[in-house]
Amino acid sequence: MGSITLKQVTKNFDEVNVIKPLDLEIKDGEFIVFVGPSGCGKSTLLRMIAGLENTTSGNIEIDGIDATKTPPAKRGLAMVFQSYALYPHMTVRNNIAFPLKRAKVSPAEIESKIANAAKILNLTDYLDRKPGQLSGGQRQRVAIGRAIVRQPSAFLFDEPLSNLDASLRVNMRLEISELHKSLATTMIYVTHDQVEAMTMADRIAVFNAGIIEQVGTPLELYKNPVNKFVAGFIGSPK
Ligand code: ADP
Ligand code: MG
Repeated sequence: MGSITLKQVTKNFDEVNVIKPLDLEIKDGEFIVFVGPSGCGKSTLLRMIAGLENTTSGNIEIDGIDATKTPPAKRGLAMVFQSYALYPHMTVRNNIAFPLKRAKVSPAEIESKIANAAKILNLTDYLDRKPGQLSGGQRQRVAIGRAIVRQPSAFLFDEPLSNLDASLRVNMRLEISELHKSLATTMIYVTHDQVEAMTMADRIAVFNAGIIEQVGTPLELYKNPVNKFVAGFIGSPK
């Protein structure tokens, strides 16, 4: 399960409107990318879905249930940030275990979930290290591992690769796509990078100043952009 429906969702910060009434249906299991220039509201919308920001008006439904009445921890979502947000004093093992311990999962189950996530993410040999002893890519894998063990109904990524150098970004892009294939879990992926959007997405939502200009498959947007903004952003020849 992991369908997310936004109905006439808006957001104001003080008097300033940053998300205009917005409708979007995200299907269970799809990889949808929110793309658009800096400041257009991508992170704000993701944080509203996660419950880290309130909606000013409108509805967010997760699997048909009004999420605006559900606290963040109960939404069944896992967020992965650009900054990794790891605990520097804890080992990789304990960073990954943290949300499970808090949820009172048994030690044996925690161990097996960590082993499984470490295997998927190639972290088996690094479980006893601390984040400071890891590369940027490994840190981001730990952050993803911490999301995986919670078995969320959807993963929310906010520019997870923008701190990594170019070659590593390409590898991690492939790894996240592979992860999506193997888990078949809904993923919402925020980026300002057109290449990431075009190569990773089932569908792309192109944001511009608090609205979605167009939603479609990479090919649809490339072939039939609705306006110059989308064409320019996607790199379409039109
Ligand atoms: P993006 O992720 O697309 O770069 P954001 O969602 O971070 O954009 O920001 C959208 C707009 O909302 C920007 O104008 C930003 O300055 C504003 N904004 C974001 N968070 C806050 C906040 N906590 N308080 C006031 N304004 C904010
Ligand atoms: Mg952002």
